[in-house]
Amino acid sequence: MTDKKLERSAIRGRFLHAKTVCDPSSCTDENIQHFEDGLLLLEQGRITFFGSWADGKDLIPQDCPLHHHQDKLIVPGFVDTHLHFPQAAIVGGYGEQLLQWLERHAFPAEKEFHDADHAADMASFFLKQLLRNGTTTASAFCSVHAISASALFEAAEHTNMRLIAGKVMMDRNAPAELLDTPQTSYDQSKALIETFHNRGRLHYAITPRFAPTSTAEQLAVAGALKQEFPDVYMQTHLSENLAEIQWVKELFPQRENYLDVYHHHGLTGPRSIFGHSIHLENQEYDRFQETDSVMAFCPTSNLFLGSGLFDMKKARDHKIRVGLATDIGGGTSYSMLRTLAEAYKVLQLQGQNLSPWDALYAATLGGARALSMDHLIGNFDVGKEADFVVLDPQATTLQAKQYKRVDSLADLFFSLVILGDERSISHTYVAGRLVHEQSAQ
Ligand SMILES: [Zn+2]
Repeated sequence: MTDKKLERSAIRGRFLHAKTVCDPSSCTDENIQHFEDGLLLLEQGRITFFGSWADGKDLIPQDCPLHHHQDKLIVPGFVDTHLHFPQAAIVGGYGEQLLQWLERHAFPAEKEFHDADHAADMASFFLKQLLRNGTTTASAFCSVHAISASALFEAAEHTNMRLIAGKVMMDRNAPAELLDTPQTSYDQSKALIETFHNRGRLHYAITPRFAPTSTAEQLAVAGALKQEFPDVYMQTHLSENLAEIQWVKELFPQRENYLDVYHHHGLTGPRSIFGHSIHLENQEYDRFQETDSVMAFCPTSNLFLGSGLFDMKKARDHKIRVGLATDIGGGTSYSMLRTLAEAYKVLQLQGQNLSPWDALYAATLGGARALSMDHLIGNFDVGKEADFVVLDPQATTLQAKQYKRVDSLADLFFSLVILGDERSISHTYVAGRLVHEQSAQ
């Protein structure tokens, strides 16, 4: 960022983005904008011009480097609204459903994050995985150790990524090495908020793992923190698995339903992101709507752990903001393209639909809106931060063959969703800087 040459640049190519918000209903052609030969001008990490090459070429400053991405498709950076940093390397662990999987795979991996060197190494690995998959913003759970959150924040700051993260709060029903207390979770979360929240592009999320691993006392502490720092995020899990829901009923018999456990402790609201949100009662959908809380839809994880099918129609009917998410490491891929492909199939199984433009929106502007960041990121509006991805629609021999057959941009993007993965990510830019290049790997 101190390099003068990086302060300004011009990107030429074929651009595609969601120009306007289109949830809760489906996106139409009117929400989408496309330039076959387009130009993006960037200065100090922000967009200063977006339009056709013909309209913008005379605006390119003389000393400004020009990058021409031919035969590619440039879209805004992907937004992953729910995943787990300490589970970065346990993707694909065999074994049963959520509660057994946590015991067998997630908790042992999380124990290793008490070590600062390990946390720093893994933070670098984790962010590289995101960037090589075109994900430029994420909302991540860390481990119970405060050091895991600081390691991730420092790595994200180094890359200048817009990132939400939080230390997990967990004071029961987990291995002893992974437990904090209401008081230590308050003290450590507060110290992390004061150090990292709103520092550059970083944001803090108060992060009770889920109701079964927090006492009512700890959830009250989480609520107190949220009141104390109203612009901080809150992230947790909700109604992923039927056995989990039954357990919550036994642990909190006085609450009306699972969401009510969080609501009672002041943890719902526009900056509250609830991972999964699958098996909900009608009352819970109503409460999402009343409180403007957010759902994170994690299709690869829901299929892998056999958790259930997310009901997008109900969310749309209740005008609930929904972000798409990988849920690494319960999820099976860092790729938001693969995640979209599984989202499409989950909706197909329920007679619902995710159109090509819905998919584009969900991974970009829709994700930004779910995270209340649509004024900063999510599309190519002038003034926004320049996070974007250059997609290669011909990354594999099969795709190269299909490329010649598709005759609309919607079909081209859809085939990228269904067949794409990290090989489709030609370049990733964060705040105007090139941070990943496929051919340089
Ligand atoms: Zn999760």
